[in-house]
Amino acid sequence: MTVAQTPATLRQPIDGRHRQMFVDGAWVDARSGRTMETRNPATGAVIATVPRGDRQDVELAVAAARKAFDGPWSRFKPYERQVLLLRIADLFEKHWEEISRSDTTDMGMPIVRTLANRTRVIGMLRYYAGMATSLHGETIENSLPGEIVSFTRKEPVGVVGAIIPWNAPTAASIWKIGPALATGCTVVLKPSEEAPLTPLLIADLMNEAGVPPGVVNIVTGTGGEAGAALAEHKGVDKIVFTGSTATGQSIVRASAGNLKRVSLELGGKSPVIVCADADLDRAVPVAAMSVFANSGQICIAGSRLFVERSIHDEFVARLAAYARGLRIGDGIDPATEIGPLVSEKQLQRVAAYLEAGTAEGATLVTGGTRLMEGELAAGNFVAPTVFAGVSDEMRIAREEIFGPVISALPFDTLDEAIERANNTPYGLAAGVFTQNLATAHQLSRKIRAGSVWVNTYHAIDPAVPFGGYKMSGYGREGGAEHLDEYLNTKGVFIKID
Ligand code: NAD
Repeated sequence: MTVAQTPATLRQPIDGRHRQMFVDGAWVDARSGRTMETRNPATGAVIATVPRGDRQDVELAVAAARKAFDGPWSRFKPYERQVLLLRIADLFEKHWEEISRSDTTDMGMPIVRTLANRTRVIGMLRYYAGMATSLHGETIENSLPGEIVSFTRKEPVGVVGAIIPWNAPTAASIWKIGPALATGCTVVLKPSEEAPLTPLLIADLMNEAGVPPGVVNIVTGTGGEAGAALAEHKGVDKIVFTGSTATGQSIVRASAGNLKRVSLELGGKSPVIVCADADLDRAVPVAAMSVFANSGQICIAGSRLFVERSIHDEFVARLAAYARGLRIGDGIDPATEIGPLVSEKQLQRVAAYLEAGTAEGATLVTGGTRLMEGELAAGNFVAPTVFAGVSDEMRIAREEIFGPVISALPFDTLDEAIERANNTPYGLAAGVFTQNLATAHQLSRKIRAGSVWVNTYHAIDPAVPFGGYKMSGYGREGGAEHLDEYLNTKGVFIKID
């Protein structure tokens, strides 16, 4: 195996050593002294231990975030917050290889993909930097008697609790911390227990950039302990959460104690609709990678593939051939296209869906097994899988698998495709392949999802809002709306006569 070259100097080498978490500008252990392991999913090796923070650590981090919010941070001018974000972006440029390797080693995403995320992540930081000096209220004419001036102010919401999953730690961290810094909020971020290392590296870089103590805190720990404590905490003004729909529901319940604001980026079961007039040479690889990229561990995975009946068999055959040609291995090898699943637990979950697909009568066209040849046996590798003969009622067509599994379903008319595409509790994303402009417009209007991509997939830009309909969540990340999630609007009336 070729291994991506190690950068000459590493901020936080991943070599089995213990890493501390970052609270109030200092590197600390959990008050309880407990730790937890994180593993490389390609090899099974323990690559670090981190503190297993719990309620007491969340308490300290929230207190630090509150103190910073009420203290000097509140006097930072927009321009100063902008400079800070631009400095962080520059440090990300400088250390991008280490950031990419950290994600690849901790959660398995192939290094070609983590390296390629550079433009998006650094673009996000620079986008938020620009937005920091663009925040404003409005002067609004009123109809009250006398002379009263009325206007709005946009004020930071306060202490933000951020809880993220493991499938894209760098992008998820910046999607949460970037707007907080732009708006003047402070943050306590809890990474996933499966992939805590890059958020710690990010804290290190933010510290070097000059982010004041308490403004960004990272508490490592489990969801049931640190995550739940953060979601319930009465000193937290807002939770921004990315993760599964079930956890999102428990966060909404936990938020009731102080009615904190909540925004949720949750799961999906996104449809991809391939019309008979599509450019198949383009559609096959994009439809395949809409799921197989990151081994299917993508919230927007286009896992329900509706193909017009006249091209269904040909499309499925080409898709399966494409899947069989993908190079699977340790993500640190620059030639790897498909890495491992994040954990043994996730592997078992995906394996249960593979069994359910066959048991419920779907036809396995390719894949369907754990890979055990040679070095792959040590990791959590599953072959890219295509099922055909799937019906809408089967579990593999209804439930989020979060693994490299595509269910192909034939359709006859556009109306039928729209109805079946929308027949899901989720509404995160959808893909459409057609060369007919009217069809593209019709489908993009009628599909109930937060993002619709036509003749492409996975297009996410810092300036364009992203988020869910229905049980895929509420609130938007990206675009000006994203900043509003971190702001309160205050109406002010001043009598001047
Ligand atoms: P998860 O819900 O199990 O965990 C997400 C985070 O929540 C982790 O940090 C976890 O520790 C924490 N958590 C768990 N239980 C908690 C509780 N009771 N209270 C507070 N926090 C708790 O999700 P996952 O398995 O890490 O990630 C996969 C899921 O995330 C999938 O459903 C996927 O679709 C979703 N996801 C959505 C998006 C999006 O933008 N919509 C992006 C990535 C992943």
